[in-house]
Amino acid sequence: MAKTTLKKIGVMTSGGDSPGMNTAIRAVARACAYYQIKCVGIKMGYEGLIHNQMSELGARSVKHIINRGGTFLQTARSEEFRTKEGRAKAFENLKKNELDALIIIGGDGSFTGGNVFFKEFGIPFIGVPGTIDNDIFGTDFTIGYDTALNTVIEAIDRIRDSATSHNRVFFVEVMGRDAGFIALNSGIASGAQDILIPEKKDSLDDLFGSLQHSQQSNKNSSIIVVAEGEELGNVYDLAKATEMRFPDYDVRVTVLGHIQRGGNPSCMDRVLASRLGVAAVEGLLDGKSDVMAGIRSNKIVFTPIAEAIKKHNEIDKELIKVAKILAI
Ligand code: ATP
Repeated sequence: MAKTTLKKIGVMTSGGDSPGMNTAIRAVARACAYYQIKCVGIKMGYEGLIHNQMSELGARSVKHIINRGGTFLQTARSEEFRTKEGRAKAFENLKKNELDALIIIGGDGSFTGGNVFFKEFGIPFIGVPGTIDNDIFGTDFTIGYDTALNTVIEAIDRIRDSATSHNRVFFVEVMGRDAGFIALNSGIASGAQDILIPEKKDSLDDLFGSLQHSQQSNKNSSIIVVAEGEELGNVYDLAKATEMRFPDYDVRVTVLGHIQRGGNPSCMDRVLASRLGVAAVEGLLDGKSDVMAGIRSNKIVFTPIAEAIKKHNEIDKELIKVAKILAI
């Protein structure tokens, strides 16, 4: 398989954390051991590269982390790496530690950083999509998304117990600043009355119409799932407007926040992280660079980083239709 003579690969997690990042690091370290190349874990993303915080990872260094949420290498956002001087320091450390290539587990910001670094210094790298938002082009799923969905529906199931006991309308805010994938899928899976996401034009009239319909069809409670980036307003504004329009409703708000990023990765995320970690190592050995390893129709694919950064996955209109039909 090997078309290159790589001897040592650095792996880091960068940007926001997501469940399954540990599983991906483990996969990278073990695949390196399998192919008899050295693996180095870089702490705190690009910060660790700039400040020379790294240590060798053997196959046994990554034991007992397959099931742990977060990332034991820790992650960070690095302002210094955005500067030419910062990246020059990172390059010096890379050379000092004799690293031939990098595997960057993170979101599109982290991939942009890798792309800039590659263009300046020619350091081969492969990106592995790790973010709960599932908003990266070139992969059907990102590492952490499935776990986050499961966390959200478990929380909404509990909220529903309270909602039905009191005739309540609950507005539940879920993560997704730019994308409604978590909201749309968790909304369908938890039987939401309405789902508000930035990708579709929502209006208060539609929302109130849906709530009115819910009332007329004898539902005694409603859950409205709202993506963080919803353009109509935040959950508190939406709840206030609903209270004014329906004074008899007991309207409540829950913001799920960071519980969505934590927890043990689901089986699906562990398998995904394991496959992508191995694919990234094999991709580098095969001479690939400046690409992202992803999964499409259950097959490993490599997408040029420039494309992964620039393009966006479209929301599936069929899912919007299903949500509407089932809210009858
Ligand atoms: P998330 O999806 O959780 O936000 P992310 O990988 O998109 O994750 P960012 O904070 O956008 O997170 O990016 C992570 C880091 O990548 C930044 O802190 C910075 O160090 C580096 N980075 C991002 N954009 C650039 C850029 N244009 N040039 C150099 N480095 C960059």
